[in-house]
Amino acid sequence: MTASLLILGGTAEAADLARVLAGTRGLRVVSSLAGRTATPRLPPGECRVGGFGGESGLADYLRREAVTMVVDATHPFADRMGWNAARACAGLGLPLLRLQRPAWVAGPKDRWTEVESWDEAIPILRRMSRRVFLAVGRQELDAFAGLDDRWFLLRFAEEAAPNPAPARFALVADRGPFTPEGERDLLLAHDIGAIVCRNSGGTAAHAKLAAAAQLNLPVIMRRRPPRPEGLSVGSAEEAARWVETLLLA
Ligand code: NAP
Repeated sequence: MTASLLILGGTAEAADLARVLAGTRGLRVVSSLAGRTATPRLPPGECRVGGFGGESGLADYLRREAVTMVVDATHPFADRMGWNAARACAGLGLPLLRLQRPAWVAGPKDRWTEVESWDEAIPILRRMSRRVFLAVGRQELDAFAGLDDRWFLLRFAEEAAPNPAPARFALVADRGPFTPEGERDLLLAHDIGAIVCRNSGGTAAHAKLAAAAQLNLPVIMRRRPPRPEGLSVGSAEEAARWVETLLLA
């Protein structure tokens, strides 16, 4: 019987895993993307795009496609999909692995204030610089809607105007990879005095934090939301070993 793996993706780690497992004998690999980006970087191999329709829709899909194992490699802040996956897999008795890049940890030169939510971040931000690099997702911008006296630098993969949008902002369209030198230049060019971001983890996204430490800038860092309990690894290679162990079982 052919084993079938569903990778819940939208991240570099998910694409790495699809790449590592491509061509594995006796294994069908399907990568799933939410479809948020108009021009996504598609991972290698078979892909499907779009939501499943909640936990029950995902369970229907897993049954219909005879999926035998699932890797949840969604972004650390894409938590809804992770909870749906945990419940659907538990209901069907399917093995589920969480693949996520390790969270960043503040070093001695970092000036972070860690928060659980954007509500917690706003009053802190009001006491900081008026020129802010707001490194958050498009769908989170509404949390900052009341800060009309601030100027924001936004950066997204695509150029489309944000909606909702802050009163005053500049938008840079760039997918990276980013370097500390490049980020330093960007922060200086826009006279940025503070950064707001999420603890996404990863080396490319860390470049802005290295630059912030160099320039002694304060950072408001949002902690990751809670995830379901379960088996978790930090790299595509470890996830591939988990898959291979199941194939041999
Ligand atoms: P989310 O809040 O966890 O998910 C919202 C809904 O989007 C889910 O309930 C699901 O719809 C659908 N969805 C999410 N990931 C999916 C996937 N891999 N395949 C199929 N459907 C998916 O996620 P989000 O924050 O909107 O992020 C959407 C996607 O973008 C994720 O795949 C994530 O890995 C990627 N991404 C997110 C961020 C971020 O900052 N949140 C950053 C980089 C990449 P149904 O309930 O209809 O199944």
